[in-house]
Amino acid sequence: MSDIKALDKEYIANTYARFPLELVKGKGSLVQDEEGKEYIDLGSGIAVTAFGIADEKWAEAVSTQASTLQHTSNLYYTSPAVKLAQMLSEKTGMKKVFFSNSGAEANECAIKTARKYAAEKKGAEYFNIITLKNSFHGRTVTTLAATGQDVFHKDFLPLTEGFLYADVNDCENIVKMATENKVAAIMIECVQGEGGVAALNEDFVKTIADICEKEDIILICDEVQCGNGRCGELYCYMNYGISPDIVSTAKGLGGGLPLGATLFGEKTKDVLGASDHGSTFGGNPVCCAGALSIISRIDDRLLYDVRRKSEYIFNELSGANGVKSVSGMGLMIGIETEKNAADVINECMANGVLVLKAKTKVRLLPALNIPDDLLIKAISVLKKACEVNV
Ligand SMILES: *Cc1c(COP(=O)(O)O)cnc(C)c1O
Repeated sequence: MSDIKALDKEYIANTYARFPLELVKGKGSLVQDEEGKEYIDLGSGIAVTAFGIADEKWAEAVSTQASTLQHTSNLYYTSPAVKLAQMLSEKTGMKKVFFSNSGAEANECAIKTARKYAAEKKGAEYFNIITLKNSFHGRTVTTLAATGQDVFHKDFLPLTEGFLYADVNDCENIVKMATENKVAAIMIECVQGEGGVAALNEDFVKTIADICEKEDIILICDEVQCGNGRCGELYCYMNYGISPDIVSTAKGLGGGLPLGATLFGEKTKDVLGASDHGSTFGGNPVCCAGALSIISRIDDRLLYDVRRKSEYIFNELSGANGVKSVSGMGLMIGIETEKNAADVINECMANGVLVLKAKTKVRLLPALNIPDDLLIKAISVLKKACEVNV
């Protein structure tokens, strides 16, 4: 074992089951391990490095800002955060933004906002938040409570109260839950990530949007993983033609630096007031300068390319030997394989391709700008790894 792997075992807390690879550098969709072996990266650090590794424009924006002004605290005005909030608002039609440092924090802010809105508008007993079974919303005690998967809850009870879990794609059930309980918000991932890369049905999402509108329930779209161009639109909810009251995002937004954002619509834009919420690092100038470079380049041409590459992957893998099903949207794809997903992942790694896992599926989250030749090469390696003898 290399020094780094041994020292990691000794000094880093045991929370991660790491792949046996130390990554040292890369460029775009190529990454190298400590022995100089090169891999095609179809994971993007879990949907984070939206334009690949050491992307030049992002790195330049970040390093320029880092050598100009790296932090001020939120006691002062700074330009990168304001420009980023303006850009996000103009591109989505949302009205205001709160910046934090992670997806969990972006969701915490969404939950606090929804509860305050409901308490003021309907009464303090309207604190319940409906989320979906199999969802994933983060690791803090409250976002764990929001996460509709028991495996994440055990050993950490009691969690924050007031979360109800609805069945995925069951319209009747969620309408019943929303009307029979005192509900502040419904929170969904339009494409569930950690839960197995599954896109929600369109009629289900539309039903949720309708009941939220009708009952004055805040609709929160958790776009931490499926947002920022990943699913072929700037934010995944746009594929469904709905208008959420709150959008939370992180991962790809910062392009590799920690940045979370909670976007507020007309209803929620002035719910939080002075000292209702805050963050020491939130809106950090370096992170926001990088994010400006990322978001400004997620344009129609790039999104068209994301959809085109998605179609290529779906076409190649659907019905391929050893592939049971392909799910997801855009460049957020889950593959149900006949072999054990872990075996497929290891075989890909041995053959120079890095892919991820979600539940029992192989998960792909390539950089949005992955070059066609690398994508074609990687998918052929993956197809081979999936094959079973007939
Ligand atoms: C990753 C993820 C989170 C948590 O983000 P962190 O930055 O790890 O806190 C929340 N929601 C979804 C949908 C995610 O995929």
